[in-house]
Amino acid sequence: MKITDIKVVRNRKPVILPEAWQPAWQMPDVEPRKTMGFSIITIHTDEGITGVGPGRLSETNLERLKGVLVGFDPLYVEAFWQNYICQSGGRGITGRESLGGVDTALWDIVGKTVGKPVYKLLGAYRDRVPVYIATAQLHSPEEHAKEAVAFREQGARAIKLRLHRPNYKDDLAVVQAVRDAVGPDMNIMVDGNQNNWSPSYKHWPRRIAMWMAKKLDALDVYYFEDPLPLRDLEGLKQLANAVDMYISGGEHAQDIFQFASLLVSGALDIVETDITIGSRIGMTGAKKVAHIAEALGKRVVPHVTTGPNKGLHLAASLQVAATVPEWVCPYVEYIREPPALTVETQQFLIKEPILFGKDGCVPVPQKPGIGVEINEETLKKYL
Ligand SMILES: [Mg+2]
Repeated sequence: MKITDIKVVRNRKPVILPEAWQPAWQMPDVEPRKTMGFSIITIHTDEGITGVGPGRLSETNLERLKGVLVGFDPLYVEAFWQNYICQSGGRGITGRESLGGVDTALWDIVGKTVGKPVYKLLGAYRDRVPVYIATAQLHSPEEHAKEAVAFREQGARAIKLRLHRPNYKDDLAVVQAVRDAVGPDMNIMVDGNQNNWSPSYKHWPRRIAMWMAKKLDALDVYYFEDPLPLRDLEGLKQLANAVDMYISGGEHAQDIFQFASLLVSGALDIVETDITIGSRIGMTGAKKVAHIAEALGKRVVPHVTTGPNKGLHLAASLQVAATVPEWVCPYVEYIREPPALTVETQQFLIKEPILFGKDGCVPVPQKPGIGVEINEETLKKYL
């Protein structure tokens, strides 16, 4: 089999959200978002099989990549990952303009070639994976508590809240209200978003991060994500040593070596691989990081981005998560914040949306490849 072409399919018409949405990590610099977009990479072969992955590539990088991949056998995905993504550092293709989407599209071809979902080729461990509901906006304690109870009634068993309100002490009232409302058997995660870079962001010094960590630990928080910038290995390590809850992060980590350092140094207990933001990760790298964590007695919780690419991103992340047991990968991120972020706005690009059940888990998509099919009818509306 040979690759004949690579394309990037982007929306030309905006995806309009039912209500404006302002994620905590962009505040206060960015206006509430009223629209979203998507970008998909498709890889075509001489056998009529097409692989799909979530991701962006500029015209220049797309042409460069065609030079490498046209004529290449897509079943040699590990060779592509080793030589082009890992060792050469992706030749400067970074961030969300990522080779992770290319790696994912190659795995999609591998699965479609043999008619199986990828996790069954890699060695399946489970068919359902627990999700945590990721919220993104800053609301009042009462609003968060009400929302958490509603998710719990739908079956969710874990929820993530954002911190860093202007007065950091106000964050605790939100966590306390949600804990009081949902009781002890729903896990609460919090995200400090301290690895973000909005120009007016008031980053916490280590002293506040430590104060917060101790207070959150007393509220039985499951993990504290990005309490400090990712490069502050020493500060993260001090936090991880000071509390019982897990310290997590890594959505912006770029390669397996950075993840290995974060884990081996003791800076993080849980790493959050992202198959597209981590430009040198992809599904291949995410699987490797899961095994590094496994060998160290640590954990991975895949980071899955917001937006209409979500369905593809989630499907691919689940194919990897399903190859390891729950103690290695206890959750996959599932963003849900109605009325803006719903199944309708986040998963319309795939034919069958991935929904969590009363057990708080999602099924691993079972179609060949990454497990889902593009809804061509809906896609067309945005081209
Ligand atoms: Mg985060």
